Amino acid sequence: METYQSMPKVELHAHLNGSARDSTLLELARVLGEKGFIVFSDVEHVIMKSDRSLHEVFKLFDLIHILTTDHKIITRITKEVVEDFASENVVYLELRTTPKKNDSIGMTKCSYMEAVIEGLKAVTAVDVAFMTHDVDAGTRVDSVLLTDTCNGTARKKIYVRLLLSIDRRETTEAAMETVRLALELRHVGVVGIDLSGNPIVGEWTTFLPALKFAREQGLCITLHCGEVPNPTEIGSMLDFLPHRIGHACCFEEEEWKKLKSFNIPVEICLTSNIRTNTISSLDVHHFADLYKANHPLILCTDDVGVFSTSLSGEYKIAASAFGLGKRELFQLARNAVEFVFADDLVKSDLREIFNSAAKRLD
Ligand code: 5GP
Repeated sequence: METYQSMPKVELHAHLNGSARDSTLLELARVLGEKGFIVFSDVEHVIMKSDRSLHEVFKLFDLIHILTTDHKIITRITKEVVEDFASENVVYLELRTTPKKNDSIGMTKCSYMEAVIEGLKAVTAVDVAFMTHDVDAGTRVDSVLLTDTCNGTARKKIYVRLLLSIDRRETTEAAMETVRLALELRHVGVVGIDLSGNPIVGEWTTFLPALKFAREQGLCITLHCGEVPNPTEIGSMLDFLPHRIGHACCFEEEEWKKLKSFNIPVEICLTSNIRTNTISSLDVHHFADLYKANHPLILCTDDVGVFSTSLSGEYKIAASAFGLGKRELFQLARNAVEFVFADDLVKSDLREIFNSAAKRLD
């Protein structure tokens, strides 16, 4: 595990609320239990359960949202999630979250995102580069380890970029609102739009106008695609030519052909796919075929909290399930730099980080 922990890595598919620590969720549940809003013992059982179907996962998200939908809590979770990824040497994190509205506590989609951005600013354990204007030649650094001039100790740095998720339960107008918000927040690191949420809910045509608008305005798009068998939707999603897709579990022959011919990068979440039974076992996981075909792939976590995993853990699983060595996994992590939604200056900094780490590989 240490090999994968110390290696620089790029995380491109991480949902904010799905990445919250169990310990934080339990603490929040205990407080709500004490206030009489929930029955703690019922909730504790749901949070700590390890195997869940895809359906149960979405029920868990509804519970997590009850616990977390508050500005201060969103700020805290964002801070912790960034610190957790940085602690395992993730050097670039694309964090996605669904902006939420909750009139009863005065939360708008915009104030929700402000709370997320506060969380990025609140991180003290590492240097967080998220403002787009951070990336100018004068202040950029070319190594993940910075020397803190105050006390001479090395400090880690992590680039963070944000994707705003459209939940499949949302209307076209709500999806548009999310896209407009993303456009307003580009200067604080919002680089794209994700379509996620329960895959058996909603119609592709509902989200298409907002996704088209986002792309016309220069935002990058990633779609949860093929988590359930739905050939019509999968075909339409691929024809849309998103910049990346997540999962691609329930594809048929025609869809694999299309994916490969369009060369759309796939965010692979091994533990998530197995835990939710979207893929029956790693022996039949599409990672192997796509890897062999040299198709662009990125190993990701999806929801480190919900699936009790880590990015280093996903690399370890890929190593043992698909017989890959340290160098091959390093190369996989390095290739991910080419699929980030951040600009070329960030990419070139990340390439340098990997170049210098490559020299330390034995
Ligand atoms: P949030 O957007 O609240 O920060 O993160 C949790 C949300 O991400 C969930 O409510 C769900 O909409 C989305 N999500 C997390 N994991 C998955 C997944 O595996 N598949 C899909 N389709 N959506 C997910």
